[in-house]
Amino acid sequence: MSLGDSPHPGGLAAIERALGPGGVLLPDRDDVHRYEVDVRGMVGHAAVVLRPSCTDEVRTVLTWALEQGVQLVPQGANTGVVGASVPDGSRRQGVLSLERLRWPLDVQADERTVVAGSGLRLSEVNDAAREHGLHLGIDVGSDPSVGGMVSTNTGGSRLIRYGDVRRHLLGLEVVLPRPGAPVLSQLRTLRKDNSGLDLKQLFVGTGGSFGVVTAAAFSLDRVPDQVVTALLVPRDMRAAMTALARIEAAAGEMLSAFEFMSGPALAAVRTFGPPRLRWPFGTAGPPPLSVLVELSSRGQGAGSAARQDLQQLLVESVSTLLEMGELRDAVQGSPDKLWPLRHEMIDALRRGGVVVGHDVSVPRRRLAAFHAAVSELVKVEAPGWTLADFGHLGDGGLHVVLWWPADRGPAPPLPPALRQALYDLVAANDGSFSAEHGIGPANIERYRHYVAGEVQELTRAIKTMTDPGGVLVGSGLGCSEPAGIPG
Ligand SMILES: Cc1cc2nc3c(=O)[nH]c(=O)nc-3n(C[C@H](O)[C@H](O)[C@H](O)COP(=O)(O)OP(=O)(O)OC[C@H]3O[C@@H](n4cnc5c(N)ncnc54)[C@H](O)[C@@H]3O)c2cc1C
Repeated sequence: MSLGDSPHPGGLAAIERALGPGGVLLPDRDDVHRYEVDVRGMVGHAAVVLRPSCTDEVRTVLTWALEQGVQLVPQGANTGVVGASVPDGSRRQGVLSLERLRWPLDVQADERTVVAGSGLRLSEVNDAAREHGLHLGIDVGSDPSVGGMVSTNTGGSRLIRYGDVRRHLLGLEVVLPRPGAPVLSQLRTLRKDNSGLDLKQLFVGTGGSFGVVTAAAFSLDRVPDQVVTALLVPRDMRAAMTALARIEAAAGEMLSAFEFMSGPALAAVRTFGPPRLRWPFGTAGPPPLSVLVELSSRGQGAGSAARQDLQQLLVESVSTLLEMGELRDAVQGSPDKLWPLRHEMIDALRRGGVVVGHDVSVPRRRLAAFHAAVSELVKVEAPGWTLADFGHLGDGGLHVVLWWPADRGPAPPLPPALRQALYDLVAANDGSFSAEHGIGPANIERYRHYVAGEVQELTRAIKTMTDPGGVLVGSGLGCSEPAGIPG
């Protein structure tokens, strides 16, 4: 129901009074647009933007929405890439922005934990943690909010070392959109707790479908004091996976990243990336396939000696792989020179043309064959498009990016058969059609197609229990109607 159809004409005035100045933004204001458009340019129209500033105000908002029959899209930093953080085009959905929930921010150095308000950014949590030599080891090219990270179970480039958000989550505070808006307060920092159902897991990676996250407690890791990096040039993808297994066996948990970059993606960084980037291959063009490998450690000994040990470990592993013929080449370089190549990749591709991304994962043992099949598929089904893929080989994640450079003229539509065949290939390889970006209007149809019927049925049953009025939309998980595609 839209606000205009509200049975309570005084509805808006009541919520404006409850949230105070800056708590309610109406659609006629210029500053509303940023809540309506996401990073990929999906645009909707918000009936209203509600900005509570504490848990009690979130309760008030959810109670009000239930009474008024208003649907709300929870929104954190709005860096999600599946359209789940913006309203649809109906002008009937409101945005529930959690950006003002900036309290608490409490780092407990002795127990390596932080309790953080939902609206705080990852960078802010890490700034506070670094004062104690600690960090939340989630490495992404965006700066998401605490609530958004929980709701999408953010992964990133160092997942192989630190894991995803789920692995760090110790406690959660959530408000349910049920009558009375009960608060599930499990903000404890226990590392062991088997006193009952671990309810917080229900809210991880489920896109805010079951409740609104108002604060979270995370475990932290020590910031490494030694970090070494190199660029590897494997013979092919199979050799890249052999290199991964070898280096992992030698370095154990000191292996903190193993990032694949295809030749076309690197070429785009060279041409469209910032001029300050240092090109590591001399005058040569990019090899068809490169890997950024990072080893890091802490407390293995003092200063430069420890760094030399780590460097030595990397050099020995790489030398063996070169002798075996698995690597064609390897280039040493410091992290501040090599990481920008990877971090600038998606922006450079966007600057240079049209990007169509697919965020998939398959078991590591199948990655090489899967990658070969995808390359073949693109050649046959999408002639003219360039496969400019990259990804997190260490965890089986691959961003299958199809790229149409701007200098080739307007991009033709991608044949629908290609997408279908790609996702069928993912499914046949026991993989996931959404490795780290979660569910939203951009991929809810894939959820309906590929996720087992009994899982969907149980998800709907849980949604009915946690959100009987169907207030929370956005990801569309557990909703019986298709989520709206932003107009
Ligand atoms: C350049 C770039 C690089 C990226 N790289 C990665 C990457 O490497 N790995 C990765 O995993 N992701 C990556 N992302 C995706 C994105 O940053 C993550 O999905 C992020 O965790 C979203 O957090 P957010 O605060 O922006 O949430 P939003 O985008 O605001 O929302 C995302 C979802 O969470 C829900 N939500 C938000 N806050 C709450 C809350 N408090 N309570 C309940 N539900 C809520 C929303 O309704 C929506 O369904 C990248 C994005 C960009 C733009």
